[in-house]
Amino acid sequence: MASAPSLLLVDDRPQNLLALEAILEPLGYELVTAGSAAEALRILLNRDDFAVILLDVQMPGMDGFEAAEVIKQRERTSTIPIIFLTALSKEDQHVFRGYEVGAVDYVFKPFNPEILRAKVAVFVELWEKNRQIREQADLLAAQELADLRRASAERYRQLADAMPQIVWTADADGRATYYNRRWFEYTGMTEAELDDHAWARITHPDDLPLAIARREETLASGGIFEVEYRFKCHDGTWRWHLGRAVPIRYEDGSIDFWIGTATDIDDRKRTEEAQRFLLDAGAELSRSLDWRAGLKAVARVAVPRVADWCAVHLAEEDGTISSLAIEHADPSKVIFAREVQERYPPRRDNSRGAAEVIRSGTSQLVSDVPDDAFGAAAQDETHEQLLRELGIRSFICVPVQARGRILGAITLVSAESGRRYTEADLRTTEELALRVAAVAENAQLYEEVERRAQAARALETIADGVVLIDNEERVLLWNNAAQAITGIDAAAIIGRPAAEVLPGYADNVAAVDVDGRPQTVPVEIEGKELWLSFSAVRFEEGTVYAFRDLTEERGLEQMRSDFVATVSHELRTPLAAIYGAAITLRRADLDLGDEMRARLLEVVAEESDRLAQIVNDVLLASHLDSGQLQLNIQTIDAARLTENVVETAQIHLPESVSLSVQIEKQLPPVAADEQQLRQVLVNLVENAVKYSPEGGPVTVRLARDDRCVRWEVTDEGLGIPASERRRVFEKFFRLDPNMTRGIGGTGLGLYICRELVRRLDGRIWAEANGAKGSKFVVELPAAATRAKQPEPTAA
Ligand code: ADP
Repeated sequence: MASAPSLLLVDDRPQNLLALEAILEPLGYELVTAGSAAEALRILLNRDDFAVILLDVQMPGMDGFEAAEVIKQRERTSTIPIIFLTALSKEDQHVFRGYEVGAVDYVFKPFNPEILRAKVAVFVELWEKNRQIREQADLLAAQELADLRRASAERYRQLADAMPQIVWTADADGRATYYNRRWFEYTGMTEAELDDHAWARITHPDDLPLAIARREETLASGGIFEVEYRFKCHDGTWRWHLGRAVPIRYEDGSIDFWIGTATDIDDRKRTEEAQRFLLDAGAELSRSLDWRAGLKAVARVAVPRVADWCAVHLAEEDGTISSLAIEHADPSKVIFAREVQERYPPRRDNSRGAAEVIRSGTSQLVSDVPDDAFGAAAQDETHEQLLRELGIRSFICVPVQARGRILGAITLVSAESGRRYTEADLRTTEELALRVAAVAENAQLYEEVERRAQAARALETIADGVVLIDNEERVLLWNNAAQAITGIDAAAIIGRPAAEVLPGYADNVAAVDVDGRPQTVPVEIEGKELWLSFSAVRFEEGTVYAFRDLTEERGLEQMRSDFVATVSHELRTPLAAIYGAAITLRRADLDLGDEMRARLLEVVAEESDRLAQIVNDVLLASHLDSGQLQLNIQTIDAARLTENVVETAQIHLPESVSLSVQIEKQLPPVAADEQQLRQVLVNLVENAVKYSPEGGPVTVRLARDDRCVRWEVTDEGLGIPASERRRVFEKFFRLDPNMTRGIGGTGLGLYICRELVRRLDGRIWAEANGAKGSKFVVELPAAATRAKQPEPTAA
């Protein structure tokens, strides 16, 4: 309600003021009196709501006109009507001045109360009207303003609602006052559910402490609030948001309210996270050459950054699927999942998940695992239940392929995080699989190189010769042993056709059974015959032959069979003679006569001797071989021994052969085992006679030569080709093993001679005897010059 109009009465005379009050009182206005212009102005400083000012003109100090000027000059008081009170003059000039300074009327003293009241009442009425109008205008303005405000608030609201971000406002204390439509859409909240903690309820527990701290900090400082946090969507998934809030301030700087936004930055965050994850996974993978270990580590890195579960399956060579890793942030869940997997191992025929991906080699992305999927994937009801307990909501499974083979599959599963996998996640996982594949390929290549290097080292160190022949029949490899055995340098044959560079390859080696038993084949290299045992194995690029040198073994083998043949023949001849003689002697129907009987008995005795000698030779050779021969060294008169040997030989000498002996005088003695030296001489003389089938002279010469004593046994018989003169001393060697000339022998005699002479520190050799026959020479050191004293044994 408007208060009663007020009048300001200004007069320097109190009785005038009193009179005025008395006159105006009946009007019922508030009457404020001032005793001077100054006082009036003072009053007007404090209030300007006077309806009329009644101003005395003649006042000491500042007069009424001056005061009116001041009043009119002040904006707030300029419109207040002023009625001058004057007793002075009614002159025009005066009146004019009064109007000039803003008077609305003059009242002349003495006042007619009626007129005064009437005039005042008119002005008050006018003022009241004005006041009403003003009040109405104010009211109208306020209303308009309110409407305007409402409209603009509505516009802001519409704007805020149309925004794709979450927008909210809060009062200066941070209490939320408004949320836009996006907020309700995203969170699924209703107005009724809103309270001071609404925002905290949907913030991820991991992000909440930071958000709260920032909020408190900015509320206190009035700075800008900014934080990244995950908001829970109505479907249970979490999405990253960038929260920002700025204070809106009053003119005086104090905070009116806060306006905040939350922008969905989940895609950006995911991309960043995926990039970081790929980097970290790459680092894990590069830590070792073992891609399986790398993959295991990657599974650990993946959880919980890109998945709630991460599983890795391997495709085994035998076609089964094994589990390499299963990871979850919560170890107890891992145990649970392992148990599920052990109970229901992945089956190859599964149409879902790792088994299918490994079989088909194509990735799978299921953004929302449908509810019926569990039943379909489960092997039975319990399995279905267990699968449900894992809480799988979304999954990705990608194959890991290296060098055309599927090594396994990586599975990312989203469960409690509510994450929904998208094509972008699939691409990230496929990228990861590519990196794993690259590492696996590297590892495989490295292993292969290493294996090859080891194989190459092994090839170079083994004793067997190894040669690789490629499918074009070229030599790929020729190892050290092959070089040593054959004397053929690798550099000379690598890369060249085997048939050209490997002697005997085309005839013998190429014919070796591939993947069969080893075969021994003769190979002639530069006139030397080698017996090589070959085994052949095929490999992708050709054939690998391994061979060993059996030449020596072959020789021994040959010798052994020759020996058996020779010795048995040699034994059979005297045996046949003995047998014939014995049979003849036993016959009762024949009268043999004494001479014949004696002759036959002599044959038995002689041939028995021969048998014994053959057996002795064999035994002696065997003793010499095994080093068991006992030596009994004595000082021996060589001349006497030689004469003795020749005398004995004379007894059985064929008629066609003449045996003579020439011995130098004054020969020094020799240090030897007499028995053995005799055997050497007997052997040489017997050979000279034996290998002179047409007869001829056989001469035994004994002479001194420097510090040696030298025997020469010469004949003019069959002779020995120069090339075989060394070989006749080899065990079992015979120039005519098949006895085409009918001359028998064991091939042991000269071998025994050589071995015995060597043990006496002497030498023995064969020469040609001029144009015909042979000469065998034996040299033994003279006893005095012999360096060593005779030893009881010498092997
Ligand atoms: P064998 O029992 O065969 O005589 P040896 O070892 O005594 O064995 O002799 C080896 C071979 O040497 C003989 O088979 C023979 O071919 C040859 N040989 C030995 N002495 C003579 C010789 N005086 N003249 C010719 N050939 C000989």
